[in-house]
Amino acid sequence: MMTDRELFFRYLAQTSAEPVGLEIVSGSGIYLYSNDNKRYIDLISGIAVSSLGHSHPEVVAAIAEQAAKHMHVMVYGEYIQAPQLRLAEMLVRFLPPELDNVYFTNSGSEAVEGAVKLAKRHSGRPRVVAFHHAYHGHTQGSMSLIGDAGMRQAFIPLLPGTSFLNFNDSGELDRIDERTACVIVEPVQGEAGIRVAERGFLEALAKRCRDTGTLLIFDEAQTGLGRTGSLFAFEQYGIVPDILILAKALGAGMPLGAFIAGRNIMQDLTHDPPLGHITTFGGHPVSCAAALAGLQVLIRGQYWKSVPARTKLFIDQLSAHPSVKEIRHAGFMMAIELGDEMKVKETIRRCFQHGLLTDWFLFCPTALRIAPPLIITEEEIMSATEILLRNIA
Ligand code: PMP
Repeated sequence: MMTDRELFFRYLAQTSAEPVGLEIVSGSGIYLYSNDNKRYIDLISGIAVSSLGHSHPEVVAAIAEQAAKHMHVMVYGEYIQAPQLRLAEMLVRFLPPELDNVYFTNSGSEAVEGAVKLAKRHSGRPRVVAFHHAYHGHTQGSMSLIGDAGMRQAFIPLLPGTSFLNFNDSGELDRIDERTACVIVEPVQGEAGIRVAERGFLEALAKRCRDTGTLLIFDEAQTGLGRTGSLFAFEQYGIVPDILILAKALGAGMPLGAFIAGRNIMQDLTHDPPLGHITTFGGHPVSCAAALAGLQVLIRGQYWKSVPARTKLFIDQLSAHPSVKEIRHAGFMMAIELGDEMKVKETIRRCFQHGLLTDWFLFCPTALRIAPPLIITEEEIMSATEILLRNIA
């Protein structure tokens, strides 16, 4: 009989030559447990998803309750399903009045697809602007907006009419013009190795979009729902995007994404043609029930409020290590710059051996990536950073 490891390599599609291959049995709080009874501190939250820890009991109960009532009933947007309504209502309560209409998807990529289609449909314009080193997903449309030519190269031709500007460079914004449907931007570029948008840059970008009638899309798949120290990163800039993308932590461990816009914009998906964007499983009632329970836990616990203080604890601990050149961060999105790709790989390997999960960045191989669960306590941070300090290469 084949072992699970052998089955994994034999029957599951592989995406890299060196998968982590951790054999997960269960998860609870900040910990994951493997088949050999080993406990791992999860400092990556898979990635930036398990903000409330693994299998939060209230989320598990909501999933069981909804699954027993009903699961899938009809393609998105046709039947009235309570979990979608309650979740949309609660999300909108925490958003500015301009963002009052929610389209639920299965994933971040799919939310990007929907948002960009909506912008094209609403504006009647053909062009899309994104940024170098951006990451927006791996479907063909969202991949067209990845700001890394090497990653796109094997899959061309992708979407026509896309262009890339330098992030945090206001000098290039005149390339956004009356033919641009939308600009999509991450308030903090994740895969780039945590590059935080400067306030002046985002203000100039928002102004240029306003002046040219271009829709501004904030991709908060990672920054959303408390990770950067506010419920949404845009709040820290005082800028309200025309379309907001959420994913990752939104489903509290279940697959769920969303693009959120004003009702006046979103309604363009209902006509010319009707069914302008449809999905069978988007906004699955079980995912929405999980998300609603997760959002309630998050709001009750106000976990984002202490993210800055706990980030400081991470930084104070880790910056003492001689290999650490810089720590870039936006709250619990952190890049520990080691300046050396081999050191990063070795650190990840050693931490893994010692029961700590970290990761790397797609477009910044010289930095170690951590994205802890928002529920992590100061005591747990001390245990995690102790392991890190002993194992940074
Ligand atoms: N946008 C951003 C900013 C992301 O970080 C990601 C996922 N890493 C996506 C979009 C794509 O989300 P998904 O993997 O759920 O399709």
